[in-house]
Amino acid sequence: MIDGFYKSGEPIADTKAPAGPIEERWTTRKFQAKQVNPANKRKKKIIIIGTGLAGGSAGATLGEAGYHVQQFCFQDSPRRAHSIAAQGGINAAKNYRNDGDSVHRLFYETVKGGDFRSRESNVHRLADISRNIIDQCVAQGVPFAREYGGLLDNRSFGGTQVSRTFYARGQTGQQLLLGAYQALMRQVDAGNVELYPRHEMLDLIMEDGRARGVVVRDLINGEIKHYTADAVVLASGGYGNVYFLSTNAMGSNVTASWRAHRHGALFANPCFTQIHPTCIPVSGDHQSKLTLMSESLRNDGRVWVPKKGGDTRRPADIPEDERDYYLERIYPSFGNLVPRDIASRAAKNVCDEGRGVGPGGLGVYLDFADAIGRLGRDKVEAKYGNLFEMYERITGENPYDTPMRIYPAVHYTMGGLWVDYDLESTIPGLFVIGEANFSDHGANRLGASALMQGLADGYFVLPNTIGDYIARNDGLGPVGESAVTEAEERVKSQIDRLLSVDGDRSVDSFHRELGHIMWEYCGMERTEEGLRKALDLIPALRQEFWERVRVTGKGEELNQQLEKAGRVADFFELAELMVVDALHRTESCGGHFRAESQDEDGEAKRDDADFSYVAAWEWAGEGEQPILHKEALNFEYVKPTQRSYK
Ligand SMILES: Cc1cc2nc3c(=O)[nH]c(=O)nc-3n(C[C@H](O)[C@H](O)[C@H](O)COP(=O)(O)OP(=O)(O)OC[C@H]3O[C@@H](n4cnc5c(N)ncnc54)[C@H](O)[C@@H]3O)c2cc1C
Repeated sequence: MIDGFYKSGEPIADTKAPAGPIEERWTTRKFQAKQVNPANKRKKKIIIIGTGLAGGSAGATLGEAGYHVQQFCFQDSPRRAHSIAAQGGINAAKNYRNDGDSVHRLFYETVKGGDFRSRESNVHRLADISRNIIDQCVAQGVPFAREYGGLLDNRSFGGTQVSRTFYARGQTGQQLLLGAYQALMRQVDAGNVELYPRHEMLDLIMEDGRARGVVVRDLINGEIKHYTADAVVLASGGYGNVYFLSTNAMGSNVTASWRAHRHGALFANPCFTQIHPTCIPVSGDHQSKLTLMSESLRNDGRVWVPKKGGDTRRPADIPEDERDYYLERIYPSFGNLVPRDIASRAAKNVCDEGRGVGPGGLGVYLDFADAIGRLGRDKVEAKYGNLFEMYERITGENPYDTPMRIYPAVHYTMGGLWVDYDLESTIPGLFVIGEANFSDHGANRLGASALMQGLADGYFVLPNTIGDYIARNDGLGPVGESAVTEAEERVKSQIDRLLSVDGDRSVDSFHRELGHIMWEYCGMERTEEGLRKALDLIPALRQEFWERVRVTGKGEELNQQLEKAGRVADFFELAELMVVDALHRTESCGGHFRAESQDEDGEAKRDDADFSYVAAWEWAGEGEQPILHKEALNFEYVKPTQRSYK
């Protein structure tokens, strides 16, 4: 066990998950939950940060239930939340294909796919609710792809052997978000939801240890404002942009979660990052964004590299017997549809062997020639047309004629604020939903399960559990002036501090350098030596940031450099915690691959005896070592085994 980087704290427990058969736990919890009388709901105020699939669905449902909701996002419209980028689909155990799917199978595959680092109770509830989500979205008019007979169509995603992914071409997130947005706007129209676009939450208002509101900055005119409530919900998305280059929307950040963390919300498994195997490779230093090619493409695309290293022939000139379809070779039962962590590492390995393709040798082929031959170009176009078009626009190559070139890139963060079965953080009254929490995916998320989780949280879980909190804390009363003033002062002084440095280096140059350190030492493969190095480099760069960062303009105006500087300042602190987490977890599991912990075939080797727990970190103050609280994981229904997709 590595020490000297953190302190050990008391173990924690998820005290809200009821005992009893797993199929009955959610029904039991809902029945135990205290209810808020319908007539009283409109007197109760709930703040929601975020309007993506998690926040949008929560706002619509809580508004419909009659609560008074105030909802914030930094984009100019709720419809522009990062969720709109989701391409491939959403999982649900409907078994429309009659191919052996069931709630239990989805539950089992999610626990296994997460490399046995998630909670059984949560995952089972998610699998169960998945079926309701599809019904709800269809009722809203979400145009899922259909088969000839009218039933909803399905395709396969990685880590599963059934077809359970519902989709709307390559625009599933957009269509689901439009559904949630319509439902939300209906509540805006009804007066139950007040929307505040172009507002960024910069701090939490705390009173008597509870979350009682937020301080936000109006991004148009820079005004600092406060809003108070009975409970606060963070639906603020993931933090993959700590790596600078990722497939996330440019604005995605950790600020809302991080400011809550500084007030006592534990941060769970921060180092569990998903590196997606099929992204367009980095093409040069000018880039600030990477583009995903949906995992759905692996249904029909075959991944390969030349058998011999340094082969620079055009793909069409490389004969079949000189190609290595390495995923099909190494993992014959799952083939191209192995989970993301496994496909990403395999791509890295063949590139490390010198067999990568394209500039710099950091790429592998994703080839549709067989699919086009088998199905015809029209069918392939109907399934993936918009993705092919996007690829061609970015690379200038036509993937109908020549294989796509792809390489792994940062995509999703399984870590996030720790929540219990009710999705409540360790700060009473602060709930966290969607990608911002750590809840269901363990050390590796299966494709098409993020949309499922965000909508399960927002449409079905939170609306039941938050009522219990509100009912049990009926007499909270108005928030005192001092709690509000303190929070506002913290925000103002951070802004003043950023503006007063007046240095000579751009915010972006710091972010890029931080991202480089993270990718190099806390990316696809992590070693003790590299992580220790990162722990030297990050604090030094953070100090330089506070001495040399240049933020021009004023606080009281539209100032995008200032927005970005605040986010990057939080990324610095988060990055250090991610490295500490990665360093302390000396096992490999899922997306966390420690080079020191692999089996003879180079596969991730877990250490269940020492690491079968959620690592939940407490903020101990600037420059102080974080405190580790462990939540033990118990597996009653899916016995941990060494994962095999062979
Ligand atoms: C390119 C791409 C494709 C994907 N495809 C799929 C897929 O096919 N299937 C799948 O299951 N998953 C997919 N994912 C993952 C999935 O899209 C995300 O995990 C999910 O959409 C996150 O939803 P969310 O509601 O939690 O957060 P987001 O959609 O990121 O929304 C966050 C919201 O919080 C707001 N916000 C954040 N911070 C603040 C703040 N400080 N103040 C005010 N507002 C704030 C933002 O304005 C925004 O409204 C994909 C991800 C990417 C990057």
